[in-house]
Amino acid sequence: RPVIWWIRRDLRLRDNPALSAALETGAPIIPLYIHDPQDEGLGAAPKFRLGLGLERFAKALEGRGSRLTLRRGKALDVLRDVIAESGADQVVWSRLYDPEAIKRNSEIKEQLKADDITVKSTGGRLMFEPWTVATKEGGMYKVYTPFWKSVRDRGVDDLIDAPARLAKPEDWPKTDRLADYSMGAAMRRGADVVAPYCRVGEDAALEQLDDFLDDRVASYKTDRDFPARAATSELSENLAWGEISPHRMWHLGARAMANGKQGAEHFLKEVVWREFAYHLMYHSPQILTRNWREEWDGFPWQEDPGEALLRWQQGRTGYDFVDAAMRELYVTGKMHNRARMIVASFLTKHLMIHWKHGMQWFEDCLVDWDPASNAMGWQWVAGSGPDAAPFFRIFNPDGQLVKFDPKGRYVRNWIAEGQSDCPRTALDFYDAIPRSWELDPDMKRPEPVIDLKRGRERALEAYKDSRDTG
Ligand code: FAD
Repeated sequence: RPVIWWIRRDLRLRDNPALSAALETGAPIIPLYIHDPQDEGLGAAPKFRLGLGLERFAKALEGRGSRLTLRRGKALDVLRDVIAESGADQVVWSRLYDPEAIKRNSEIKEQLKADDITVKSTGGRLMFEPWTVATKEGGMYKVYTPFWKSVRDRGVDDLIDAPARLAKPEDWPKTDRLADYSMGAAMRRGADVVAPYCRVGEDAALEQLDDFLDDRVASYKTDRDFPARAATSELSENLAWGEISPHRMWHLGARAMANGKQGAEHFLKEVVWREFAYHLMYHSPQILTRNWREEWDGFPWQEDPGEALLRWQQGRTGYDFVDAAMRELYVTGKMHNRARMIVASFLTKHLMIHWKHGMQWFEDCLVDWDPASNAMGWQWVAGSGPDAAPFFRIFNPDGQLVKFDPKGRYVRNWIAEGQSDCPRTALDFYDAIPRSWELDPDMKRPEPVIDLKRGRERALEAYKDSRDTG
């Protein structure tokens, strides 16, 4: 009798413990993706990117003699239907860690067990399951450095190669057509503009990791903060959809380190930031929805962010670093880490707009959207999170430009205004935006949305007042 391999954010054949568990049963395998828009809970760009990932993954499965079954509906109902159709008596999946997924999965597990179905959930999304990392007192880590120290010497699961073939069932269950799910429908911008910037699929991710470790990791530590230098791995998108495992990044990164490649340790540390984000989300899921530090609840955010928020989203704040970054996000679905920090600081501090608005915009626009890293990033920059940057650390976007884009390449790449011969990237922004944005047809740079000095002083005063009265 077949085993159902329920696929979620793990679109890969290598280092996939759920697939290994399915293979170990020796039974024919039915790879199944269940499309439930409510459960997926995805913004426009992540959903679009998931569609690209599923398309590629279906082809990878075909290359191994298998097939991706696509079904729409509530997960438990669909699983029961496919079990009834196929005679499967086992289901395996790899875990997700956000609170809703945890709740849903444990309910499904219970119900299927009551139906006499064997259910197995595995790790694979993370290197270190969140409950296996604990302080001496047995609690969670709230600060990154001790977290890093506690995991850096741990062993990480071995790498597992992709199986040559997947045993197939006698009859395949019926499947929907991916095109009928219209995964790109919610994109208000041209999906065709964003698609060429995506790196889709496991093979592309592995090649990217190799190239990065061969050519760029040595200068990672010095160059990683310069957004125009392409100095980072750019693998977050693939990690987000499980097209590469963090284990592989760890093993190959550690090998590069052992071979004396400078920068490799720093790279491993960044990969562990992602683990830390999951550790925080697992142990204190309120990080997704509320100020992690309650003393922030009295902070006087702007009540009606309206126009200023829109200008931030549209890359029209009048500050080059912020605008270049917001346009990069809109066109590519990605944004450089330094730029993420700068736009988040500008929104929460200079504009005093609640981090939730920024987090939601990222959630809608990022093809590498990850609930844990996004929430941690926003609360870290805003100052309301664990181990956060202090509030008085307010990035000056112009000062940051001088430091991290000294030749103005990043800005030229993304801001068309004022350039007679501007690069494709900057024009892509104008192809991507919806008509409803009605940007200035003369392409004049907008006046600054706020004076930097005034914005900074206003934020610091509000912070001080809210502490004095809180
Ligand atoms: P590299 O520098 O090559 O790092 C390797 C990997 O380490 C990354 O792919 C990523 O998985 C992990 N990593 C690196 N930096 C961080 C970090 N600060 N936090 C967590 N993990 C990290 N990352 C996401 O994957 N999804 C998000 O939704 C997301 N939202 C963010 C929001 C804000 C406000 C901020 C400040 C950061 C956010 N990040 C998010 C983290 C970080 O910006 C991206 O992971 C990074 O830009 C990805 O580029 P890269 O793959 O080239 O990273």
